[in-house]
Amino acid sequence: MMIRKDTFLDQPYYSCSESSPVRFALFIRGDAMTRTAGDILKMRDAVSCVFPGGGKLIAPSQVHGTTILEQDASSYLPSRPQADGVFLNGCGAEGSLRFADCVPVVVWSLAPNPWILLLHSGFRGTTKNIVATGLDFVSRKYGRRCLRSSSAWIGPHIGACCYSRNLDDPATRAGLDALPQETFSVSASSAAFALGKAVFLQLVHSGVSESNILLHSGCTCCEKEAYYSYRGGDIQGRMFLLARIE
Ligand SMILES: [Zn+2]
Repeated sequence: MMIRKDTFLDQPYYSCSESSPVRFALFIRGDAMTRTAGDILKMRDAVSCVFPGGGKLIAPSQVHGTTILEQDASSYLPSRPQADGVFLNGCGAEGSLRFADCVPVVVWSLAPNPWILLLHSGFRGTTKNIVATGLDFVSRKYGRRCLRSSSAWIGPHIGACCYSRNLDDPATRAGLDALPQETFSVSASSAAFALGKAVFLQLVHSGVSESNILLHSGCTCCEKEAYYSYRGGDIQGRMFLLARIE
């Protein structure tokens, strides 16, 4: 699996270079995303030249939970159900999520038919293991065996370098209890979390082959000239993950 970076009109994006009925792209910091300032319909419209199509769009209200939406009348705009995952397995609708530091997770396969799972896994979502919830959802449809042959991409997110949390915060404690020890380091008053590594281990634990997972290195906050970073001060700007089955 190869993820390539392209640019149109000063708007960079990552996409999967395979020619496949499963199509996705992550639009990072750039002219179109900055101009549309997190407005979903404008963001979708602004990327039409490289991601044509449109039609029904799933764009959940993201709440750092573990709910997964699928292609269903109740999921489409203008409805915005609270959820942090989108599952697609047929033509006729698109899924999207938005990010500024949280971990974008994309899992897909052509077996037994083309499907793709998009997840928004921030600190809380990773603590709650939305990866396991999402892959359980896929397993209930197709069986766990189909996960062995799936591919996964862990996109740009905040690194442990910039993601420390106060030990006094009960949510930090929950993270320390839930996540593997090799994914955090604790100092006197804070803990630094490597969320991408935690997501990687969760994917493997749920049945995705290590060799089929690509983990984006780098940090959205250290490299905020290339990405949007909430901790880095971006209030409105978001990276836009868009997918569909063709
Ligand atoms: Zn950093």
